[in-house]
Amino acid sequence: MNRSLAIIALAALVLVAGCTKHSAPKPATADAGSFDPLKAFARQVFPDSVSATRVADGTPGPAYWQNRADYTIHAVLDPASNTLSADEVITYTNNSPNDLDYLWLQLDQNIYRAGSRGAAVYGVANPNATDGYVLDTVETNGAKTLYIVSDTRAQLRLAQTLKAHSKITIHIRYHYVVPGKSGGRTAHGPSKNGEIYDIAQWYPRMAVYDDLRGWDTLPYLVSEFYLDYGDVDYSVTVPSDMLVAGSGELVIPQEVLTQTEMDRLAQARLSDKPVMIRTAAEVNDPLSRPKQGGTLTWHFKMANTRDVAFGASKAFMWDAARINLPGGKAALAQSVYPVEAAKPNAWNRSTEMVKDSVENFSRRWYPFPWPNAVSVGGPVGGMEYPALVFDDMTMHDATMFWVTAHEIGHSWFPMTVGFNERRDPWMDEGFNTFIDVFESENFNHGEFGPKRDSEFSPKSAHPADGLIDLLADPKAPITLMAGDPVIEKYRHPVSYYKSAFGMVLLRDTILGPDRFDYAFHKFIRDWAFKHPSPSDFFRAMDSAGGEDLSWFWREWYFDKGTYDVAVTGVTPAKGGWQNGATITVENRDAMVFPLTLDVRFEGGRTVRVKVPVEAWMRRTGALVPLLGTKPITSVTADPDHALPDHDRANNVWNGP
Ligand SMILES: [Zn+2]
Repeated sequence: MNRSLAIIALAALVLVAGCTKHSAPKPATADAGSFDPLKAFARQVFPDSVSATRVADGTPGPAYWQNRADYTIHAVLDPASNTLSADEVITYTNNSPNDLDYLWLQLDQNIYRAGSRGAAVYGVANPNATDGYVLDTVETNGAKTLYIVSDTRAQLRLAQTLKAHSKITIHIRYHYVVPGKSGGRTAHGPSKNGEIYDIAQWYPRMAVYDDLRGWDTLPYLVSEFYLDYGDVDYSVTVPSDMLVAGSGELVIPQEVLTQTEMDRLAQARLSDKPVMIRTAAEVNDPLSRPKQGGTLTWHFKMANTRDVAFGASKAFMWDAARINLPGGKAALAQSVYPVEAAKPNAWNRSTEMVKDSVENFSRRWYPFPWPNAVSVGGPVGGMEYPALVFDDMTMHDATMFWVTAHEIGHSWFPMTVGFNERRDPWMDEGFNTFIDVFESENFNHGEFGPKRDSEFSPKSAHPADGLIDLLADPKAPITLMAGDPVIEKYRHPVSYYKSAFGMVLLRDTILGPDRFDYAFHKFIRDWAFKHPSPSDFFRAMDSAGGEDLSWFWREWYFDKGTYDVAVTGVTPAKGGWQNGATITVENRDAMVFPLTLDVRFEGGRTVRVKVPVEAWMRRTGALVPLLGTKPITSVTADPDHALPDHDRANNVWNGP
């Protein structure tokens, strides 16, 4: 379980109340299954090399750079035609040491075109295909620019090279039809009092040019995103009866809110309990809008972000509460949702869940860096954007909590620590699922804990046991697999559950909470608003955690394997039990872990013994010497089910 506070003693021998002399039997030499110490403890080479941009200790190097994308967007959402039209200016800063002759843009809406590569992945035609982005104008630095479109990417072929350390302005006018429910991560769908729009991937965004592979041009097929940071200033014009909830901060609220709503928002900023900003009774009340007829423009700004998204509907109720952040800072938790979702076990508690999750993740891992955290109840069932999430309006009870906490957790991974989700889904999904485990234990004194949902240990009380079938499955992908080739059957089990459990193992079984938390906190701080690779993570944990964890990185992330330990014998020391004993524990499969033994002596005294992984470094059968004066009556390996041991029958040795 996740509460285990096992600290691994790093002595070569296991000490119980001090170990002096012992007489050990001969080491086991028999071939115990497929465990090969020379293979298990070989050096693991990481895929990305160390350079001036990325240091061997897993930190950004002195020459680290990343490009910057700032956006100013004026959009009009027309619900009559479900069309979004916009005028976008991207200010792109080339912080790299290289001159760029061309730029790549991400045109994610093109995934909805008939014949897109994304459709090819599924092998079925999209009956609700759209035209994707229709680009009306593409200019750079004020002049028309040559460009080509390839699926969800566009290459801008620059008339003049973008020199290193210089900026370019890209101006695009475009429109697209918002996909209906089939849009997946962005969609519109009905509610009792009107259509709800979950608007995302709604503006051409810069592809990332980085020091790892130059332009990262993986098309948008299924998996999520990789984006540069910058400031986004955007406005959305909608019919005056609609509310817009957006990433970032609403600028000039008096243009779009009534005085009553602004007063209630001010009240919410001081309240730990949710305050209604727009009640169910007010949803169809014209007095809840500052203007009748025509349109209103909602203006938002968000600093230092990799994306923005928004929800829009005339059906929204709205509530908010203060988020208390470390250092006396505050932010605002908000939820918008239709009246039919407002139930005591459902969206009435959304803001409470958003607030608690943000406070918990901020306290435990890294302070929430934005002024608002918003959950939008609508047609999209669980999708994250920076400081704003789309959650299924029909959710309730434990699922409501687990999904809300999970989507909000993505504001840490990958929104603050800027992972490449398309290539490394195990980082954003796995690290987020890992921090969700704590939030599930903590929320309202464990009301919905422990986390046992579709993302983490869906079928087993012990998360380690729930992974046994996956580890034995020859078709399961390795943890390091990119997202797109992984079929749905393995998506949650591998990038969420197995990856998150790898972090649980690292924290509870391998490093211990103190060393893990120090190293992981440092990794988060070092890479906040940057682009760490898997290699950076492995190196950071090795260096700051203080271990060469090659064996663990290989078996859990780069490779696959199963795990089985067996307690095979207990031998009294020379001269009898009064001089102690030696326990033999065989490692029978490819994987190896530090191990806990519960040893029971005649008379009932039980001691807990920590066996470091080095015990199997030179042999398959570890010899665990133990001081004691009485005969040992039983030995139980992994008594807490911390490890995915597929044969527990051989974990227990009982004396005669
Ligand atoms: Zn997720």
